[in-house]
Amino acid sequence: MAYQSLNPATGKLLKKFDELTDKQLEEKLAAAEKCFKTWKLKTYAERAVVVAKAAVLMHERVDELAHTMTLEMGKRIGEAKGEVEFSSNILAYYAKNAERFLANVELHPTLGDGHMESSPIGVIFGVEPWNFPYYQLARVAGPHLMAGNVLLVKHAGCVPQCAIAFEKLWIDAGAPIGLYTNLLISHDQSDDLIDDPRVKGVALTGSVAAGRSIAARAGQNLKPSSMELGGSDAFIVLEDADLEHTIKWAVWGRMYNTGQTCCAAKRFIVVEKLADKFLEKFQAALGALKAGDPLDEKTTLGPLSTESALVDLLKQIDVAVAHGAKVLMGGKRVDRPGSFMQPTILTDVKPENPAFRDEFFGPVAMFFRVKDEDAAIALANDSDFGLGGSVFTKDLARGKRVASRIDTGMMFINNISWSDAELPFGGIKNSGYGRELGDMGIQEFVNKKLVRYV
Ligand code: NDP
Repeated sequence: MAYQSLNPATGKLLKKFDELTDKQLEEKLAAAEKCFKTWKLKTYAERAVVVAKAAVLMHERVDELAHTMTLEMGKRIGEAKGEVEFSSNILAYYAKNAERFLANVELHPTLGDGHMESSPIGVIFGVEPWNFPYYQLARVAGPHLMAGNVLLVKHAGCVPQCAIAFEKLWIDAGAPIGLYTNLLISHDQSDDLIDDPRVKGVALTGSVAAGRSIAARAGQNLKPSSMELGGSDAFIVLEDADLEHTIKWAVWGRMYNTGQTCCAAKRFIVVEKLADKFLEKFQAALGALKAGDPLDEKTTLGPLSTESALVDLLKQIDVAVAHGAKVLMGGKRVDRPGSFMQPTILTDVKPENPAFRDEFFGPVAMFFRVKDEDAAIALANDSDFGLGGSVFTKDLARGKRVASRIDTGMMFINNISWSDAELPFGGIKNSGYGRELGDMGIQEFVNKKLVRYV
């Protein structure tokens, strides 16, 4: 059964769901296409009524939505509530700003005048992951619905109840049938959708493997796509960093969402002078986290999203160790029911070790000691990924200089890689292409049309 809710904190199966038949999928696609014909003609103000209402409903339902998320994928309840509120803010942000972002841009060529206008392109297909079950959906729904497109969304197999709850928001917000449709479908059906001429673009957040498959399919059909894939962000600590502040963010950056975040800090690169002190304090702070029920506000270490996520992570650690890495702390599952992983630090990960290029999607930090700033930059850039990264220093000008030399889509100074409605999010290299959020996020699936008048 591809779609099932299973509580990773207990291993208990909550609910199973059938996939759509091809006939049901066709009906939903036809409804989306029909909806687009009228939705594209609505004014921004008319679209904003629905999107802003969905934002309000999300806010009102924060407890219920967060509870569902915690039960399905194990996010600690405080973080889950924060995600629901943030998702609501993203919807509200686009309801308010979309018209400004997509306003005509006047052009003044040598002869006559003109403008660029932004028009919607049609049915957009989103494929989304389980790690932020509502935020990932809000990130596509807010901008693309406000732009006048309509959405079909395939969510991850382990969070069907979140997917259904998010779709219900739109129904309750008065959205026309076909505006936002959740699809419980197989990968083959996903391919069929991408091939269908009624689908005009594809947005994915997920693994590199999923990105290769879905981007190739979209490319074969000459359809635009945006790919938000994995990352192995560097967390660079220079010798003049404020250590207390840095440790606080190091723990947060690695452990938020139990480490299952594309832009989490994964490679800790510390300049020699601070390395021992950093490692000692980092280890102590990680060691203080206690596994417990993610529904309990006091719990500091939640489970991973699924048992298979835990098993895969343990295998990755075995491979790393077999190739010379040392486990400074952790490295095992927590001895209790549920899919809990000990906070882990790996050292001595050499470039020949497969772990050096791997993404650890869980509470596993790789620690590197370097001579100086240049060595830190070189190591940070020696990665197949290029999503985000951070640099810690008391000297802002120095931080900006280092940030400019790192090959990623986002850099943060004295802070962790983070997301805000206003800030374009995305990466380069194997981390994908395109941007979500901010002004740029709404431009991904619109026709930038030139109109010239002489
Ligand atoms: P996947 O990429 O497999 O899953 C993400 C989404 O893509 C899910 O909805 C999944 O559906 C779907 N999907 C995957 N392959 C296909 C395909 N060929 N055709 C259609 N849909 C597809 O991620 P995992 O859950 O397996 O996580 C594995 C790794 O992915 C992590 O270790 C991490 O590296 C990366 N990842 C990155 C995320 C990010 O935020 N950038 C988020 C989640 C994962 P289904 O569940 O039905 O397979």
